[in-house]
Amino acid sequence: MLKEKGYNYCFDANACASCKGNCCIGESGYIWINKEEINKLAQHLDISLDELRVKYLKKVGYKYSLKEVQLEPNNYACTFFDIEKRQCSIYEARPTQCRTFPFWEYFKNNEKEVYEECPAIKHL
Ligand code: SF4
Repeated sequence: MLKEKGYNYCFDANACASCKGNCCIGESGYIWINKEEINKLAQHLDISLDELRVKYLKKVGYKYSLKEVQLEPNNYACTFFDIEKRQCSIYEARPTQCRTFPFWEYFKNNEKEVYEECPAIKHL
């Protein structure tokens, strides 16, 4: 059970098996990735930085986000979400935003949303 100071909930990773990947699919959003993570991901995929940028990243201002794939109207998946296996296909090289879920500052003031999204969230 994972806990983080400042949060009123904990995260039970065992529940991920019963989830269809709610943290990687849903409404369109940004999955931020920094320069260091971009380099790591290119190495992980064994492709050039240019290929990674063209195929998998979108530039938003001066930052990069992973691209999304539209599944249905208003339902998107991260480009690296394996729809059949219902899991991340780059798990070892996923960005910090994914590694730190569900302990995001945003959820401190929007706790209801994290409970609705993630079956692994438990009250402390
Ligand atoms: S990189 Fe992996 S963990 Fe992060 S949103 Fe995409 S599929 Fe999910």
